[in-house]
Amino acid sequence: MALAPHAVHRLYEYRKSISTKPFGARGKKLIRCPLCLLGAQFCTCSLRRQLTTQASFLLIMYNDEVIKPTNSGRLIADLIPDTYAFLWSRTEPAAEMLALLSNEHYQPFLVFPAQYANPGQTVLSQVPMATLANGKRPLLIMLDGSWREAIKMFRKSAYLQDLPILSFDPNTLATYALRKGSHDFQLGTAEVASLALAAMGEEANGKALTAWFDLFVESSLLGRNRRCREDILPISEFTDAFEAAYRAATLEL
Ligand SMILES: [Zn+2]
Repeated sequence: MALAPHAVHRLYEYRKSISTKPFGARGKKLIRCPLCLLGAQFCTCSLRRQLTTQASFLLIMYNDEVIKPTNSGRLIADLIPDTYAFLWSRTEPAAEMLALLSNEHYQPFLVFPAQYANPGQTVLSQVPMATLANGKRPLLIMLDGSWREAIKMFRKSAYLQDLPILSFDPNTLATYALRKGSHDFQLGTAEVASLALAAMGEEANGKALTAWFDLFVESSLLGRNRRCREDILPISEFTDAFEAAYRAATLEL
């Protein structure tokens, strides 16, 4: 049975409806699945599964990020049932988003590099699950855009200035990059979110999200014909890896 559309699917439809011109993404001749935005023949929607988690996510998305097929924030909403998504506005932040930030059932954490913290702003490397007041859920806030855009969103949003920051030390980032064999530490939004899940003690959920991200990247490259032949691993390697990671996350409960 197909899962219901999630917050990023709904925000995508909304953002498209207010757009005055069609979005000129690379590879626009490609016929895309309207949900995962991958080329129709590489659609991963039937593989999507929801994780069982204590985490809630709030995605604050820069301008047209939500309609970019390369956006990885949507992968968080794919797997994490309690995910919210809003467009960022410097002057008119969504009232619903502000209400969420002051909702007593949530403890917000801004997932962002410590180097940008204001003087006196709390910086953490782990989510202090044991000390969260009476059953509050962590609400992990992701600023979804390029780095430049994320920094702008942070600096120009008064409501983010006093929140505790969840930040990863260089060792954590290096270990993650090494394990994945990547050559730089520029992580996608979904990869940072998988580190945030690990920082809550949900390593297996983090690994499932990483595997979902890897499948997405590979499927995007195939859709854009950007893989040279000798480079190609069968896509089943990636779908199997995701399904194994998902099973492991389910077993760990
Ligand atoms: Zn799809």
